[in-house]
Amino acid sequence: MSTLFTTPRTKKLRPAIQAYLDEHILQNELEWLKQPFGELESMLRTHKQAMQKLGVWNLYHSAEHGGPGLSLTEVAQVGETLGQTVFGLFLCNAQAPDAGNLELLLKYANADLQERFVAPMLAGEMRSCFGMTEPDLAGSNPVRMHTTAVQEGDNYIINGRKWFTTGADGARLCIVMAITNPEAEKPHHRASMIVVPTDTEGFCRERNISIMGHDGSGWLSHSEVTFTNVRVPISNRLGGEGQGFLLAQERLGPGRIHHCMRWIGMAERSFQMMVNRAAGRELSDGIMLGDKQMVQSWIAESRAEIDASRLLVLHTAHAIETQGAKAARDQISIIKFTVAGMLNRVVDRAIQVHGGLGVTDDTILSFLYREERAARIYDGTDETHKASLAKRILRKARH
Ligand SMILES: Cc1cc2nc3c(=O)[nH]c(=O)nc-3n(C[C@H](O)[C@H](O)[C@H](O)COP(=O)(O)OP(=O)(O)OC[C@H]3O[C@@H](n4cnc5c(N)ncnc54)[C@H](O)[C@@H]3O)c2cc1C
Repeated sequence: MSTLFTTPRTKKLRPAIQAYLDEHILQNELEWLKQPFGELESMLRTHKQAMQKLGVWNLYHSAEHGGPGLSLTEVAQVGETLGQTVFGLFLCNAQAPDAGNLELLLKYANADLQERFVAPMLAGEMRSCFGMTEPDLAGSNPVRMHTTAVQEGDNYIINGRKWFTTGADGARLCIVMAITNPEAEKPHHRASMIVVPTDTEGFCRERNISIMGHDGSGWLSHSEVTFTNVRVPISNRLGGEGQGFLLAQERLGPGRIHHCMRWIGMAERSFQMMVNRAAGRELSDGIMLGDKQMVQSWIAESRAEIDASRLLVLHTAHAIETQGAKAARDQISIIKFTVAGMLNRVVDRAIQVHGGLGVTDDTILSFLYREERAARIYDGTDETHKASLAKRILRKARH
């Protein structure tokens, strides 16, 4: 465990979380993943209460909102420990996309929405989703959008189709990004974020999208959703009209730290599994898998890549804390593609070391491989981050 940026709080919280995960969660994870999330959700309540007692509830929020008010570097460290299991952040009410949505709602939602949705979300009794990407347009350039919200009296009438809306299955509200100002000169001033309760007439979850053969369910799923003449009050808009992308920018820095440290937790777990398998699997009399230099190379490379990723992410979290997300935007891009690529490589090597067992559902590796191949696609594709980083570097060189 790295000691960089440790604080008395992280020193206390991380071992306590680890002990809880070891005793109650990690050994049950595979079985739980076979169950529909709806059934699981009520059973997980006990563990959520236990996390609350440990003081790791609503990680990102202050005491006023039931959280410990951790700094971003502290959240990063705790996030790595929790990231070892797919359920970790969920049990602390700090899972995506709810964590980011809550931040937006706390800051921008009107009093009625705060009462109906924010209070139950802070208590972990309600989930939300975020609908921006559309099937017909390249999500890499999100300013292009077909979904519209047209004013009619005091309401918006919303029409459109979104997909990959994570956690829409069972969510009580969707923050939808829709074009409200088509005439705005700059494309990123044309859209607004609007809160749509999912029981509003015209909102339909069409399907959970099958990912590599798995539909998923509940929070562990990604849906296609449609909006057909959905009518919501104009006061459901978050922030000013046309400020949707401005608000989206606010979520970016902290959100990326969240994903990256979760990925490091997964990589670390896969790494430990790879090492244990290499140390314990006998190839021939007295010769273990780990005696082979090819396997040693994977172990050494993985160790170095995980450690380097962790340092990069902690450094970025510290930069965001001290200089703000805008000043840290190069680092924020760098961690996205560095850590996502590292995770994919480490999980792949761990599977290879496990041989046939690695591709079965008897270990967590196949789940991580299937679910997190997408790490290089969501939260901004790796290529868009590389392109914008390189452009900024070249621009500076030209000046
Ligand atoms: C598991 C998962 C969860 C998601 N959750 C959500 C969610 O909750 N809400 C939501 O709104 N969206 C969500 N998304 C959607 C995600 O944001 C988009 O998939 C992503 O932005 C890419 O858009 P696209 O799929 O349309 O790919 P496209 O934009 O069509 O891009 C295809 C490929 O083009 C390449 N590419 C793009 N730009 C460049 C470039 N400049 N140079 C070179 N190559 C480039 C990339 O390799 C990219 O993979 C999720 C996606 C996944 C896979």
